[in-house]
This record gives sequence, C-alpha cells and structure tokens, in this order.
Amino acid sequence: MARYTDAVCRICRRENVKLFLKGDRCYSDKCAFDRRGYPPGEHGQRRGRKTSGYGIQLREKQKVKRMYGLSEKQFRLFFARADRHKGVTGTNLLIALERRLDNVVYRLGFVNSRSQGRHFVKHNHFSVNGKKVNIPSYLVKIGDVVEVHEKSRKIKSIGDSLDAVVRRGIPQWLELEKENMKGVIQTFPVREDLTMPMLEQLIVELYSK
Ligand code: SF4
Repeated sequence: MARYTDAVCRICRRENVKLFLKGDRCYSDKCAFDRRGYPPGEHGQRRGRKTSGYGIQLREKQKVKRMYGLSEKQFRLFFARADRHKGVTGTNLLIALERRLDNVVYRLGFVNSRSQGRHFVKHNHFSVNGKKVNIPSYLVKIGDVVEVHEKSRKIKSIGDSLDAVVRRGIPQWLELEKENMKGVIQTFPVREDLTMPMLEQLIVELYSK
C-alpha cells in the first residue's frame, strides 16, 4: 500500500479520535476533529451506521497503523515480528512501534509529530550512542542515548518542539536532558505507558483470520 497522502486530519475524523498527527495544530482551536468530530465524506454525518466485527477490527488496525505512519507492508512486518516473540502479541506490537526511532524523537519532544520525526531522522539530524542513524524504523534499546546532532541544534523547530514538550509530557521510560538536547532510554515501555485508546487484541484477531 502506498503511503497515505490525503489530508491527515481526515484520519482522526475517520477513526473518531484525536491522533495528534499535526503537531501544535492538534492543541489549538484549529483542530479539525474538535471542529468537525464526525467522519469525513458525503455520508459522514449519517447516524446509526452498523459496523461488522470485521469492520471494527479493520478500523482499529488502520488507526494504529496511521498513528505511527506506517504502510500496510511495514505494519505487517512489525506484527509478524511481534507474533514471533514471547508474550502477548498485541502488547509486543505496540511496544515495538514505540521503540521506533521516529517515535522516540517525537516522544522526547525533538519534533512535534511522528511524520516530522521520520523526516528529520532521514535527514541525519539525530545520533544514537554517538553515531548518526537515519533509519526511522531503527529500534532503540535500553541505555541508548538519542541526541540532536551538533549541527542541527540551531534548527528553530527543534527548539520550539522542546519548549512545547512540557505540555505533552515525557513518558516515564525516557529521560530528557533538555539543555543538552539528549534523551536516554531508561527502560522499555510497558502497556500502561501507552495512553492513547488502542485495542490491540482486535488487530491480532484481524491478522489471525
Ligand atoms: Fe487530528 Fe491533529 Fe488534525 Fe486535530 S489537528 S484532526 S488531532 S491531526
């Protein structure tokens, strides 16, 4: 599946939840979901639409996949890896998604959305343990140090995002040294750290058919 190129706010309206895909705009009164909290399209405001069990599972998968900005193929790969590991597949999946470098730089507040995180990672703005890493799907490990590269520290949007992170908060599994533009992976996230509404079991059921 090709990457989603339509207006991203439609995704929140489609999934009926704020997914925070557009940085500062999501916290402003310009948020499309706050203004029009019904599904997009001609029939978006129709009431009483019934959704099948399959439809509910599909919507849940689409929501999580789009929240992390992955294609179907990439998401399937993450699922397959999560399924191979010990433990609960759905939880494994969400934790692996959280460990992606593009998500970590977002969680640390170096960028204001995961899509910006992906873009900045690809453009070599970050290093992990002192080495440049330009792979958004790179999975961080406990003890890894993620830093804004020396030459990128003057980028205004990084400074602005760091200032705004106070509003969003840093998850407990990460530690931020704001002045040094550096973050440390203290531990892996646990399910309780992921506060967005996600019913991962529905995704497991969908892919297990
Ligand atoms: Fe979603 Fe953000 Fe757009 Fe609001 S502004 S609809 S939270 S992407």
